[in-house]
Amino acid sequence: MKNSKKYDVIIIGAGLSGLTLANEIITRTSKSVLILEKKKKFSNDKNWCFWNVPENPFTKYADNIWSKVVIKIDKKKKELESKGINYLRIKPLTFYKRILSSFKKRNVTILMNQKINHLNIDKNEKIIKSNNIEYKSNLIFDSRPNKIDNKKNRLFQHFYGFEVLFEKKVLDIDKITLMDFQCFSKGINFFYILPFSSRRALIETTYFSTTIYKSNKYKKDIINYIKKNFNGYNYKLISKEKGIIPMFYESNLRENKLIKIGLSGNWIRASTGYSFQNSFINAKMIVDNLISGKKEEIKIPKLIMFLDLIFCDFITKYPADSKYFFYCFFFKNNLTDIVNFLTGRTKFLKIFAMLLSLPKTKMILSLISLIKNKVKNNESY
Ligand SMILES: Cc1cc2nc3c(=O)[nH]c(=O)nc-3n(C[C@H](O)[C@H](O)[C@H](O)COP(=O)(O)OP(=O)(O)OC[C@H]3O[C@@H](n4cnc5c(N)ncnc54)[C@H](O)[C@@H]3O)c2cc1C
Repeated sequence: MKNSKKYDVIIIGAGLSGLTLANEIITRTSKSVLILEKKKKFSNDKNWCFWNVPENPFTKYADNIWSKVVIKIDKKKKELESKGINYLRIKPLTFYKRILSSFKKRNVTILMNQKINHLNIDKNEKIIKSNNIEYKSNLIFDSRPNKIDNKKNRLFQHFYGFEVLFEKKVLDIDKITLMDFQCFSKGINFFYILPFSSRRALIETTYFSTTIYKSNKYKKDIINYIKKNFNGYNYKLISKEKGIIPMFYESNLRENKLIKIGLSGNWIRASTGYSFQNSFINAKMIVDNLISGKKEEIKIPKLIMFLDLIFCDFITKYPADSKYFFYCFFFKNNLTDIVNFLTGRTKFLKIFAMLLSLPKTKMILSLISLIKNKVKNNESY
């Protein structure tokens, strides 16, 4: 024990939340940071997309920018465009390289290929044993994802995507398809298409449902979709990405006195599954609290949490009405209002006006059931 190395802060996981938080800590404090990562190396394992508003430190490094957004519901198609609103994509390696270069000559150590063997937490000290070496710190953040437990009838966003290269130019590179809704009675299923060139795109099938499927089902979905929508043109698979994201908020954000961050620390918006923008906001909030001696926690605005939970209850209870919900949201509002709403930047009166454009009766029923549950479980917002 005497030989164990001591750091002011230890972060488990060098992903989006871990690296963003480490960067914020080393930029604004003199604390030493150790990051322990399971992966052997950084790779392009997913695509991070986000709206250009509000700006974040990586907005200017986006690999792709699109200004037009397509929504398709039951043969109805809407193309949305608003001045100054763009949808951006950054490759993980662009993000990793930039953030790691800002770590140079700073008080931060990243150890890859780590296997955490043991955690010993007592009142004053926390000890982590990784690859059989001990590290001590009073403050440990943990970005390991929680185990997926879908036995509780909870809602998840689950998706599977192929990056494909077509033999011919078949894609319109100006537009992304944000949601192309499919027939699905147990929740929501839509396709998401990001064209990287006129021949190359990410084509992804996404479900909002309580049941998660085996990989083969998603793969078949994609193959059938390409057959139906791209005239049978030949294509080859370049890579794949997949994910399962909870569409609820966790109540336990400290486990063994480790502070959860990222996916299991409620950094992802339950209604959308997006967390890229939030990561910078949350890392800043934690470091603000760290500097001012408060609890190193994030606070999600109560109204956002409340609206997200109503939305998720709606999808769970009224799957047959979910497409109509999206129809109202996308076809009756403009892109600026939609993006402000999705990124939590809408003023109260505007939120109220947008809520009036949605199916009211069932939303009120979801609201009542949410309040009843909260009262029953004696929880507050
Ligand atoms: C395929 C995919 C696409 C997504 N696309 C978007 C998007 O377009 N826009 C958006 O806003 N959000 C998106 N998300 C959601 C979210 O932004 C990402 O999941 C994001 O990476 C979450 O950050 P995180 O730090 O929680 O997890 P990660 O970035 O996954 O980081 C967790 C890190 O912990 C490491 N780790 C795990 N277990 C251990 C262990 N035992 N010991 C040490 N290290 C460990 C992992 O290897 C990983 O590096 C996407 C998610 C997925 C899965």
